[in-house]
Amino acid sequence: MSFRVACGVVLALCAERTLASCAYGTSLFPRQEGEIKVNTFGYSGAIGPTNWHRLDVAANSLCATGAHQSPIDMVEGAFSVIPASDLSIEIPDFSNGTEFENLGTTVEVIAPGGTMSIAGVEHTLQQFHFHLPSEHLDNGLSRAMEMHMVWEGPEGQIAVIGTYIDVSDGSAAEAPAEAPTETPAETPTETPQPTPEAETATGMTGGFFIPAQVRKERMIRRERARRQAIGRRQEAPAAPAGTTALLETVLSSVGQISTAGTSVRTGPLIMSEVVDIINSGSFQTYSGSLTTPPCSEGVRWLVSDQVLSVQLSTFNSARSVIGFNARFPQNFLNLATPAVATPAE
Ligand SMILES: [Zn+2]
Repeated sequence: MSFRVACGVVLALCAERTLASCAYGTSLFPRQEGEIKVNTFGYSGAIGPTNWHRLDVAANSLCATGAHQSPIDMVEGAFSVIPASDLSIEIPDFSNGTEFENLGTTVEVIAPGGTMSIAGVEHTLQQFHFHLPSEHLDNGLSRAMEMHMVWEGPEGQIAVIGTYIDVSDGSAAEAPAEAPTETPAETPTETPQPTPEAETATGMTGGFFIPAQVRKERMIRRERARRQAIGRRQEAPAAPAGTTALLETVLSSVGQISTAGTSVRTGPLIMSEVVDIINSGSFQTYSGSLTTPPCSEGVRWLVSDQVLSVQLSTFNSARSVIGFNARFPQNFLNLATPAVATPAE
């Protein structure tokens, strides 16, 4: 079912009645110039996820009745895996910074101009925002945060790239857990620093075994991308080792938008760092929904198996402003209620 069909004739009403959602900034929920819409839904109590459909019965019905809702626990069988090469992602740098807004339910970076092609369809980047903790579960495990990059296709279809964010514990400055056994084909100019990632010490990520050599090469590519990004930055402080410079730059100003409805201009944003990181892995993809009202379906989810990272103090700053904004996993909520066994006579 297409996104248009999913929201159908109530689409206009969605935009009218429902304030900014995860698709804010798209043609579905246009951003008004000079105006920051503060959301009226929430994540607990009477305005929490279990009551979203009651906040606007006409617009939000899918929040209660949808059969393909998001987020989900990314367990085997819930998604398919596609290589990053199936996507073509280009995002220009924001050398003069861009707007960073507090929408009440998330903090969001306005990021127009990027393109992402998949299956011959070009989407344009609208914004990226953050959830705390992660909305998707990584095979049963929540992550510290999740970043959603929201893309819109030519017919209004929505695709979202979700990327987990972990908190760096400083171990990036230590030696890799597995010492390299051979010289990489392309030796970096500096000693690579491992970046916290989805892969565990056993090489398992999302249920898939990643050979040590592949993990090592990915780690080297990510660190190279991070260092190159830092090198391109102007007037911006270097991010601590093992952290994602883009996130450190954006979230360093989160304290300046602690009040819903406020905004601040970020420092220069080098987008290629994150693009390089997610291009070094794969995507777990499935058809789901917006994770916020009106919970519209037909959203193409692309959850990266590469993990970004922030230092603990940055995470704490983000948490003090964002609080909690993760909808609970929606796996199998659409299944019919199992028949109750009849007690033996
Ligand atoms: Zn989101």
